[in-house]
Amino acid sequence: MISRPKGTNDLLPEDIWRWQKLELLIREECAKFNYQEIRTPIFEETGLFQRGLGEATDIVEKEMYTFNDKGGRSMTLRPEGTASVVRAYVENNLKGTGLPAKLYYLGPMFRYERPQAGRYRQFHQFGIECFGSSEPSLDAEVIMLAYGIYTKLGAKNVELKLNSIGCPNCRPNYLEKLKEALKENQESLCSNCRKRSLTNPLRVLDCKEKGCQATISALPRITDYLCTDCSDHYTEVKETLTLWNVDFVEDSRLVRGLDYYTKTVFEFSVENLGAQNAVGGGGRYDKLVEEIGGEPTPAVGFAMGIERTILAVGDAWQKEPDVDLYIVIIGDTKKEALLELIRARKQGLKAEMDHLNRSVKAQFKQANRLNAKYCLILGPDEIKQGKVKLKNMRDGEEIQLTLSDWLGGIK
Ligand code: AMP
Repeated sequence: MISRPKGTNDLLPEDIWRWQKLELLIREECAKFNYQEIRTPIFEETGLFQRGLGEATDIVEKEMYTFNDKGGRSMTLRPEGTASVVRAYVENNLKGTGLPAKLYYLGPMFRYERPQAGRYRQFHQFGIECFGSSEPSLDAEVIMLAYGIYTKLGAKNVELKLNSIGCPNCRPNYLEKLKEALKENQESLCSNCRKRSLTNPLRVLDCKEKGCQATISALPRITDYLCTDCSDHYTEVKETLTLWNVDFVEDSRLVRGLDYYTKTVFEFSVENLGAQNAVGGGGRYDKLVEEIGGEPTPAVGFAMGIERTILAVGDAWQKEPDVDLYIVIIGDTKKEALLELIRARKQGLKAEMDHLNRSVKAQFKQANRLNAKYCLILGPDEIKQGKVKLKNMRDGEEIQLTLSDWLGGIK
């Protein structure tokens, strides 16, 4: 017997309804905010992610599923969605369809990480990307769309953290100050932080090691070094969120794992999810389109982890019944059952009947297993008289109706 690869999941019918419900909500919210779906390949040339995400990121350094295809080209299963959507935006000249271009995607992502609860090697993301405007109102709108979904899910204790990490005008100045401070504090940092002090100093700020925390909290804050443009932008994002009653907490240590962000960054987390409590995040990336070969185009986006979001919902949702109607066959009434089954389905009911020659008792048991709201009972004597029985499975009430219009008894 061959098992599924480590870190992957089979999504079974008993859980898939949660995915479908979330996907439906996502599509509805995207439509309200005028975001259109885009579907890109699940593998791309490796260079796209190396360039887009940055060589010194965890993903590119150690988490990519990279392989040579039969033509000797290096390909990578997409570890995230943004780089591919940017490539597609440039390659298909989506600028020509009108700006801002507002796109969303839903699908599997692949990262070679150590699997644990809420962290998988194949996982799913929903994400949105908005191209062509640097207006803070669009940063706020991206956050609002995500916030609205978490709120509507009924997930409890969702926290939104917000920060601005500046732009190529002001960040180098901050990075100098940060590097100086890190140099002075090398002894009190973990080995990973010491390495990052040189390769990617911003990432030191989100180290989770206990021993590093005191040092990190005393490091210079990026928000004290923002240029006027970034500072005004950040203020306007916050003002718009406040206008829309979005609760957020400012966190000057929030930097996110990828190199491409400029100005706004944000993250949603849920308290009771343990170590893997980040359910989504995003930010502005005004330099990425250029980096990937397009013309300079400001952009902002967000990605939500579907598995973790479903974990966060927990039992706040109730499953809909599998069927509205189950037809119980007594004696030789299968032909009538087949007729009524299709009549019910044509009327829009979710309907099922027995196909295993089960006993009447076993048919009722199956109806209960499917959580049927009604059972239509077809007995030979009733059929002869043009009558049927309809049983309401919620309250047990049974009524007799004519064969021709029993559908009227369904509420
Ligand atoms: P990122 O692209 O790293 O910002 O991730 C966005 C969201 O995707 C995170 O907040 C998580 O909810 C989810 N995510 C990232 N990596 C994984 C993973 N290995 N397994 C499950 N979910 C993940």
